[in-house]
Amino acid sequence: MMWDAHCHLHDSRITDLPQQLHQAKEIPISRWVVCSTGPEDWEKVLSLSLQDDALFPAFGVHPWYIDNLPPQWESQLFDYLKNHTCFVGECGLDFEKPPQEIQETIFATQIRMAIELGRPLNIHCRKAWHRLFPLLKPAINKIPGFVIHAYSQNRDIAMQIASYGGFVSFACHILRPWNQSRYQRIITEIPLETILIETDAPDIPLYTLKTGLSSLSRLSDLALVAKQICEWKNISRETLSQSLTKAWEKLTS
Ligand SMILES: [Zn+2]
Repeated sequence: MMWDAHCHLHDSRITDLPQQLHQAKEIPISRWVVCSTGPEDWEKVLSLSLQDDALFPAFGVHPWYIDNLPPQWESQLFDYLKNHTCFVGECGLDFEKPPQEIQETIFATQIRMAIELGRPLNIHCRKAWHRLFPLLKPAINKIPGFVIHAYSQNRDIAMQIASYGGFVSFACHILRPWNQSRYQRIITEIPLETILIETDAPDIPLYTLKTGLSSLSRLSDLALVAKQICEWKNISRETLSQSLTKAWEKLTS
């Protein structure tokens, strides 16, 4: 089964969602993890997931959007997480932006909720790997697993993620000509069982020599990411599909 490990289908920049879903289901892509980024998204993500079983919700607070959280955000989030089969996310750390301490506190709160409810995490991590692992340590073997989205680090960090029960997810960034040799090396070196694919739609747009950087990514771009990974790993689409199915079963067990 091919599934998209991280996207934002509630984003208002996507104006043709029914058509995109129809097209992607023909490929076939079977599931989408629709990640909220803060309280104002939770209801939108929930209502999308209730309209279509293929859309799997994630409720959380993204590290960029921690400034104006309502005082009762924790209890509200806990209710969403408890009452629906879902991921916790998009949550995480981004030390390109301050304030780092508050990001850590908010992320740690979400990790505690994931542990208490046995939910997987969908994580954004940038320039904060040294803090990610200590914060995730209490969750090892207590949650079904986690996804590091838009992965761009080396083999060693990927192996550490795998040893903590996590997966690394790749999007259209691996297809950009200036990135390709680096990602070919990373993807060749890490085990297939650790790899997931995503679009981050509508972000992480596709680049082609003919069209340049498109403004938004599309759900069907996932097939291009899958094709590239199959080529680099020298495996069939069926083998990739089987590996992704296993990962889905682990994360949603
Ligand atoms: Zn995202």
